[in-house]
Amino acid sequence: SKPIVAIVGRPNVGKSTLFNQIGKKRVSIVDDMPGVTRDRIYLDAEWLNQHFTMIDTGGIEFDESNHILKSMRQQAQLAMDEADVILFLVDGRSGLTTADEEVARLLRSTKKPVILAVNKIDSPQRAMDVYEFYNLGLGDPIPISASNAMNLGDLLDAIVAAF
Ligand code: GDP
Ligand code: MG
Repeated sequence: SKPIVAIVGRPNVGKSTLFNQIGKKRVSIVDDMPGVTRDRIYLDAEWLNQHFTMIDTGGIEFDESNHILKSMRQQAQLAMDEADVILFLVDGRSGLTTADEEVARLLRSTKKPVILAVNKIDSPQRAMDVYEFYNLGLGDPIPISASNAMNLGDLLDAIVAAF
């Protein structure tokens, strides 16, 4: 069956925007299942003849108390259990947060491939916003701008290379 790519990331880092861009421009959508929230949670996609399913774990409501750290741990755990590749999305504008460090700590314990992408790098002038994310210990961060559809090809290349 198709590989599963799970996106993990704090609220507002741009997961839904990335999903919509991938669905719109860069890959052909084979199927599109409606999720339980207004946001799309599942996306069946294709890149370089590789078919895969993307899951936005941030669209899945786990924790009734709405506690961000607790639900982020649950998202990360679901991704580590179910995914073939984990895409950890962080926000280059807000910078590194405690919740990012906590999720990274969990993701460093998995043997599954983890791809770190820094969103909201909207222009070359913002390139330096990427560097602090090397501290997460998850390898080279890939700068992207989901809203401007910048560098999404490089990100998708890294994803399918990890299958
Ligand atoms: P999610 O909560 O992780 O799904 O985040 P959303 O996709 O809903 O985006 C949260 C906010 O960040 C929205 O206001 C988006 O327009 C904005 N956003 C998303 N991607 C980018 C980006 O690449 N650059 C900038 N500047 N803003 C972005
Ligand atoms: Mg969302």
